[in-house]
Amino acid sequence: MPEIASLARDHPRIESVFGPLTDDEDATLRSFFAEVDRELQGLAEDVRGGTKGLEVIWSRLGQVQVFGDVAARGVSFDVGLYPTWCFGNRSGEPGWGIEASIDADCQHSVDHESMDTVWDRGDVEMSTPEAAVRELVEAARQLHRLACEHPLEYWQALAKD
Ligand SMILES: [Zn+2]
Repeated sequence: MPEIASLARDHPRIESVFGPLTDDEDATLRSFFAEVDRELQGLAEDVRGGTKGLEVIWSRLGQVQVFGDVAARGVSFDVGLYPTWCFGNRSGEPGWGIEASIDADCQHSVDHESMDTVWDRGDVEMSTPEAAVRELVEAARQLHRLACEHPLEYWQALAKD
């Protein structure tokens, strides 16, 4: 089982995601995470869904990521940030991947037995922690915009025949 801690509530250390940080760097990164939390909360209110805000998730085998989602009536709006080594990058260079997607409960006649990804921002890679968290803010804003531009039924319909 992974270990999960809320960034806003538990204030977990974030060095396992970013490497060593000064107090100033730590505060700056957390201010961007707080901005992401505000976007997720606003999105949740607009779609009358729920969110726990951003969480840090540590797997037993050492991978780590920052993840947040908003769930509303079978649709999930997800953002995530992870060090690129988590997915096999062995360049030895620091890097962080930022992803965002919208998933909907599968209602296809041939059931995919999970949620279907109905929109994907595409992985973006950044080479500094601050650029990575700024990109995470952008990703969350984009999700919020999309959630305002289309009703939930639009996303639900993309996972139907
Ligand atoms: Zn499906």
